[in-house]
Amino acid sequence: MKLFTLGPVEMYESTKKISKKDFVYFRTEEYSDIVNNSLKKLAKLIGVSGENSVIYMASSGTGAMEGSVENCINKNEKALVINGGTFGYRFCQLLEYHGIPYSSIDLKWNETLTQKHLDLYNNKNFTHLFVNICETQTGQLYDIKMLSDFCKQNNMYLIVDAIGSFLADEYCMDKYGIDLTIISSQKGLCLSSGMAIVAFSERMKEKVLNNKNKISSVYFDFKDYLKNIERGQTPYTPTIGIMYELSDMLNLIDKEGGKEVWISKVQQKCDYFREKAVNFGLSIPEYPKSNMLTPVYFNNVNAYEIFKKLKDKFQIYVNPCGGELADKIFRISHIGNTTIEDIDNLLEKIEICIKELQEGVYV
Ligand SMILES: *Cc1c(COP(=O)(O)O)cnc(C)c1O
Repeated sequence: MKLFTLGPVEMYESTKKISKKDFVYFRTEEYSDIVNNSLKKLAKLIGVSGENSVIYMASSGTGAMEGSVENCINKNEKALVINGGTFGYRFCQLLEYHGIPYSSIDLKWNETLTQKHLDLYNNKNFTHLFVNICETQTGQLYDIKMLSDFCKQNNMYLIVDAIGSFLADEYCMDKYGIDLTIISSQKGLCLSSGMAIVAFSERMKEKVLNNKNKISSVYFDFKDYLKNIERGQTPYTPTIGIMYELSDMLNLIDKEGGKEVWISKVQQKCDYFREKAVNFGLSIPEYPKSNMLTPVYFNNVNAYEIFKKLKDKFQIYVNPCGGELADKIFRISHIGNTTIEDIDNLLEKIEICIKELQEGVYV
């Protein structure tokens, strides 16, 4: 079996072994040491320099997205959302649910986010920008510098869901003045699903710690998490196993040569796939894309049928697309423990599936 899915991804062998280990009890100094040690390394990867600026939550990535809406913005402020697919739309849903005023820049399929879109929102009293820096539904990677400059000009907080992009594309919180970063264990970190990570700029930490108007629920109260992390703890029982996996993964990234080398390996796989796929006649959208994934577009074969065939016949899992694009597109992940040989094999099997479907052979 091989996973070319976006998360959970094909995990590394050393990660898979962790679940068989013994774990210490978590309300101990021994556990706090593990947390503190990984915190420092993780903060470096995220590019955030403040002390105790990273927290862990036992939730999927969406929990941290919800937490960001509950803790970082108030009802007397106004959000702008880049809505370029299902994950952008999720921010809209969360803001709507919590009664926070917002507008959204709604991108059509295949439409690139440009400065022109942003110019319409200059000097309109928006206080926060919410963006999924890679919109995982389409793979579009937005221009972080353009968004960062827009936020600086308009004195806005910049909230970035980097779940899709983290460890696949360059990312640095301090450099771009990003106020909040949201990450999830099952994507670029290649760990089990279930742990979300949130990193804060100094000014966002101040805002959250002193926010009197916040609407947050008890479980997602970031203030509690920020206070607890000062002693390497979480308010509630953490995902202990994933914390062990994280420690192991951070060591592996170090051993492989660090963040830049790690990202360049993802990029190599990505470039290799795209070049071969295009030569082979597959269509890939033109907009700027994350290294994390490649969307592949089909005009005359049903993409969902190819996905099913790859799974049932060859035990290869690619990522189908939801909604209107389900029959047109599937997505190939470049994160996780896959190799160039795996990609060659994948392309070979896609070719077989296409041929069979064109000849009318269903599974
Ligand atoms: C995967 C992903 C999420 C989180 O999804 P969960 O299922 O809640 O973990 C959020 N945003 C983006 C951009 C993603 O790729």
